[in-house]
Amino acid sequence: MRIIQSGFIICWSSPLQINKSALVVGAGIGGLTVSLCLAEKGFDVRIFEQTRELGEVGAGLQLSPNCSRVLHDLGLEKEILSKACLPDAAEIRDWKHGKLLSSMPLGDSAIEQYGFPYYHIHRADLLAILFEKAGKHPNIQITTSAKIEGCSQDTNGPGVSHNGERISADLLVGADGIHSEIRTALFGEEKPRYTGNVAWRGLIHVDQLPEDLKASIRPVAGLWWGPGKHFVHYYVRSRELINCVCVVEKKGWEVESWSERGDKAELVKDFEGWDHRITTLIDAMDPSQCFKWALFDRAPMTSWSRGNVGLLGDACHPSLPFLAQGAAMAIEDAAVLAACVQDGQIEAGLCKYELLRKDRATRIQNASRRNAKIFHLRGARAWARNQAVKFSPDNMLDWIYRYDALDSES
Ligand code: FAD
Repeated sequence: MRIIQSGFIICWSSPLQINKSALVVGAGIGGLTVSLCLAEKGFDVRIFEQTRELGEVGAGLQLSPNCSRVLHDLGLEKEILSKACLPDAAEIRDWKHGKLLSSMPLGDSAIEQYGFPYYHIHRADLLAILFEKAGKHPNIQITTSAKIEGCSQDTNGPGVSHNGERISADLLVGADGIHSEIRTALFGEEKPRYTGNVAWRGLIHVDQLPEDLKASIRPVAGLWWGPGKHFVHYYVRSRELINCVCVVEKKGWEVESWSERGDKAELVKDFEGWDHRITTLIDAMDPSQCFKWALFDRAPMTSWSRGNVGLLGDACHPSLPFLAQGAAMAIEDAAVLAACVQDGQIEAGLCKYELLRKDRATRIQNASRRNAKIFHLRGARAWARNQAVKFSPDNMLDWIYRYDALDSES
């Protein structure tokens, strides 16, 4: 294993003899997962990550069975279970009185139906698990503090420039998120779209909650629908913390970051008049840990690859988080991409990967956008939605959760 920080080698053991190589730009959830999947197929992988170290970024993540299947296949079940929570159900409530509109069983029921668990986990915990696994893999080398600017392809294969040196490989994967440099290098500059929604996020230590609220916050994925807004809460880190995501339609605030502090007074005002469970949760948030994030997405792309360079995750299909599927799609991409290129036919493999993945990723992007409208309906339309959801079948999301990325023909 080799991890290089700012150019010096921290740790080393000799790599295996293999004859296929890959460069991966970005050590987010997608980049680390694809590196592990490629390394398992015998690729020698080098990852470049712009940040110096992966810290306490972001907040909670919902990992549905379609992606836990891939994470288990990578041998991460024990590590994930030690940090994650398994919610009993996904519950939808009305903003004002907290009336239960719908409840879909998860927990054991998700395992019975889909074969794999539905997890809630802190984003930093998942990244740490993936990073540790990648760091220990003999075929993977991670270079941090390495911001890659573009890429090129010549007779030596696709490559990037790092510290004045061109580094090339058989395959280059752009897993560098919604502002992907690799995407721009392949297809030109195109700005992501501000969707008119801002997400507040906050983590609450369960100990900070009043006793009566502690008892009433059940271990579920709680989703509360209100006019022009919605609120999501669930436990993470073995139920020590509650993760809250509070989405509000807002014009003219377009900073996108996991760590932009927001003014808690504004958040309190945004949710004034909501059920007391929500306002009490907001009261319990540490103001210094209240972050604000403008939500961007992009229109579906016509192509995800050029030659031996392919894109993955938010780099090619970022979506609103209203189906909780962005990271899940990056994880699915990783498994399919690695399977498609394993025979060494990189260009053809990337075409196949795109063929297998594009319709599904586009459907998720579109459905997430549609949810943005449905979640935030007002007046009579909200009333009609609330009646309709009571009769919606439990298997509505089967098309998402049943997908098997390990069967690359799926
Ligand atoms: P990223 O996570 O953006 O990672 C990209 C990596 O590349 C980063 O480490 C970055 O530093 C690095 N990088 C960027 N540029 C360069 C460069 N030039 N050189 C080197 N490195 C570079 N998804 C779910 O599945 N479930 C959820 O519950 C969920 N909740 C969400 C809640 C919110 C509020 C939001 C905003 C998103 C949510 N998502 C969720 C979506 C999910 O976070 C993203 O889809 C996912 O993080 C995408 O992973 P990625 O690896 O493609 O990109």
